[in-house]
Order: sequence, then C-alpha cells, then structure tokens
Amino acid sequence: GGDAEAPLEDSYVVATDTSFVPFEFKEDGEYVGFDIDLINAVADEAGFKVDLKTTNFDGMIPGLQTGTFDIAIAGMTIKPERAEKVDFSDPYYKSGLRIGVPIDNEDITSVEDLEGKNIATRLGSTSADYINNNIEGAKAQTFEQLDQAYLAVQNGTSDAILYDAPNVAYYIKTKGEDSLKMVGELLEAQDYGIAIAQGNESLVKAIDKALSTLKENGKYDEIYQKWFGE
Ligand code: GLN
Repeated sequence: GGDAEAPLEDSYVVATDTSFVPFEFKEDGEYVGFDIDLINAVADEAGFKVDLKTTNFDGMIPGLQTGTFDIAIAGMTIKPERAEKVDFSDPYYKSGLRIGVPIDNEDITSVEDLEGKNIATRLGSTSADYINNNIEGAKAQTFEQLDQAYLAVQNGTSDAILYDAPNVAYYIKTKGEDSLKMVGELLEAQDYGIAIAQGNESLVKAIDKALSTLKENGKYDEIYQKWFGE
C-alpha cells in the first residue's frame, strides 16, 4: 500500500495503446486522441509531466505491475479482474460493445446472428472475453493490432468484428465507410478508467481530483466535443 501523503513525482511514465481510434492514434508522427488530450489536461491540472510510451494493449497491465509504467490510459474498461492488479481512477467515459460487418452483409443484424461465426477482435480485450463467454459456438479471432482485425472483416477472413462501440463507429466513419457498417444494439455497458500502478494512492487521488475539476470547468466537455461532437 502507498502512502496517501507521499508527494507527487515531477513526471510519470504513461503507457498508451498504439492505435485505438479516436482515443489514441498516430497522426503526422504524433500521438493524438481523446485519451491523449485528457491525460495531458489531467497532468496539467495535477502538476506532473507526461512521459508517453506506446505499447500493445495486452502488455499494459503487466507493465504497470512490473513498474515499467506508472499510469496507463487506453480506453481501458474497469473490470474486477483488472482492479486486482492495478488501481483505477474514477470512470471517465461510458462505453460498450458493438458489431461491425461488411457493408453488403444482410445475415448479421444482432448478437444472436453471431453464433458459430468467426469474429475478429483484439487480444486481451473485454470483447474477446465477451465472445468467449456469451456467444455460442463463435470463434474469437484475436489480433494484437486493431487494424488487422478490421482488415480481416474487410477481406472476408472474419464474418464480423466485435469491439468498443466508439472505436467501431469512428473506424467506419474515417476508414471504412464504403466497406463496413455497424449493426445491432450496444452490448455490455462499460466504463473506462485511467489505470495506475498499485501503491500510488496520492497519484490516484490527484488524478481523480483533476478529473472532477476538468468536468466542472468545461475542459472535459471541450475535449469530448473535439473527438465526439458532430
Ligand atoms: N475497452 C477495451 C478493453 O479494455 C479495449 C481497449 C483497447 O483496445 N485499447 O478491453
């Protein structure tokens, strides 16, 4: 357990995903996205510098456990199993899962239609768990990189993709408008949290305080509008 009174460090190593649109992705050589703007605003507010490192999503919690990273922000869903290994901030984004299929597909219109199908998703994600636990006879085809999962649907290797709703929506809007469409309802409501290596209670408190300030002073809304506004 950490000392709640311990002062904050000047700088923290913050892990983020290599690509999870529109939360973190590379544009003109720079990492941009909702999470990037949010963690920078949180850090400004709390008074620490961000030393950003990108890593595969499934390496994030192990990296927090071994001390390679202090913080991770990557649209990470708050789950009890994860909360045993890392600490989570207060929730900062309400999410859920959605289905994406080839634009000309007429067979898959809901989660029931995914039974027995090949479903592209990401390794170590809540969607991979959802497929394995809830969809009868389905095969979760797991990829390290999300672009590969979308590509598998576009080239017919997979019947559908199941992933975080805002990611599916943004991917289709920006890269898949002619080839993919979103179907079915929002599955499994989820909350995203900022993950913090255990034993940093003062950092968790500072991040939660900063998040609540940003929600009160309109900065959170500004960032939200920038990435999700019409
Ligand atoms: N929200 C999902 C999860 O936590 C996926 C996050 C991601 O791919 N960056 O499993």
